[in-house]
Amino acid sequence: MHDFVFAARLPRVVFGAGALRRLPDEIAALGLGRALVLSTPGQRALGERVAALLGDRAVGVFAGAVIHVPVASARAACEEARRLGADSAVAIGGGSTTGLGKAIALETSLPVVAVPTTYAGSEMTTVYGLTDAGMKTTGRDLRVLPRTVVYDPELSAALPFAITVTSLLNAIAHAAEGLYAPDRNPLVEAMAEEGIRLAAAVLPRLQRDPGDIAARGDALVAAWLCGTVMGSVTVGLHHKLCHTLGGSFDLPHAEVHAVILPQAMAYNAPAAAPAMARIARALGAASAPGGLFDLGRAHGAPTSLAAIGMRADDLDRAAGLAVQNAYPNPRPLERAAVRDLLQRAFDGVHPD
Ligand code: NAD
Repeated sequence: MHDFVFAARLPRVVFGAGALRRLPDEIAALGLGRALVLSTPGQRALGERVAALLGDRAVGVFAGAVIHVPVASARAACEEARRLGADSAVAIGGGSTTGLGKAIALETSLPVVAVPTTYAGSEMTTVYGLTDAGMKTTGRDLRVLPRTVVYDPELSAALPFAITVTSLLNAIAHAAEGLYAPDRNPLVEAMAEEGIRLAAAVLPRLQRDPGDIAARGDALVAAWLCGTVMGSVTVGLHHKLCHTLGGSFDLPHAEVHAVILPQAMAYNAPAAAPAMARIARALGAASAPGGLFDLGRAHGAPTSLAAIGMRADDLDRAAGLAVQNAYPNPRPLERAAVRDLLQRAFDGVHPD
């Protein structure tokens, strides 16, 4: 029997090749005219291109977005927004840049417009994260949800294939956990399964031709679907482990998702058979954990924590942190079993 409450809170979405050109009209339609454009240092040129496109509707570029939003970068961005009298933030980039926009919104209540260039899906969620002294804290707040999201597949045409793969696995992780979330519903499940199917199907196409704009468009649709799933439900063990490993052990975010996902699914499989069946069906695989492991490996994603810089000595502490606070998960959190999961992830053991 279904039993749920669902209140969709979603940004306006403008989607299409070349959609970036519609950004000035979108900013104007929101009644905004003093946007601070945000980017990472590496995407500063893109940030400046956006500021030029906005003309006198932009007040400057802050190219200081950093992975996991260190509080110092959030403070500096808020300070710059105040100094320039900004009335909004336009975040162009991946989840790190969107995250900085969210941090500004949390502190100042300024509206955010997001232009994603990866598949992390953060633009569709009310989830924010901040890192202070090696500890990442996350929360939900409606103020951080972007008002408008402009999805332009042309902007991810040059995303390196290695980041493309891990970023799409990051998107799949949102959808996979959505399929067993306690607050899921049939609409969310349909989006999740289609998001996983599309993300998996597009990878071989992008491997053949990373500049294929139609394939980039399908990847962005997958990101939109999977991000919407994450924005609609409570996520479990997989995301908790990724936050712990990324925030406390400084491991690369998207790579951590790629390594942990098959192992977290293997942990939860005995307690979430219907979700696993849908994931396997979306992947065209015999099992969800094995299918995810094979999908990543076939496209060059890392499969072990050892390969991405985790130290064996830290596995005990990571297991302790991951089970410290209670959160919903289909299989109860057992420290010894989570420690075993982490060992398998460390060694890159095939989950089947
Ligand atoms: P990222 O934003 O850190 O981007 C990775 C690197 O790729 C950066 O150097 C960036 O400048 C570069 N890059 C981005 N787009 C590019 C492009 N099109 N071409 C070339 N280079 C490009 O990585 P990410 O995986 O998108 O985001 C990770 C962050 O997002 C993490 O902090 C994670 O916790 C957060 N996140 C949050 C949510 C949420 O709902 N709050 C969801 C997913 C991820």
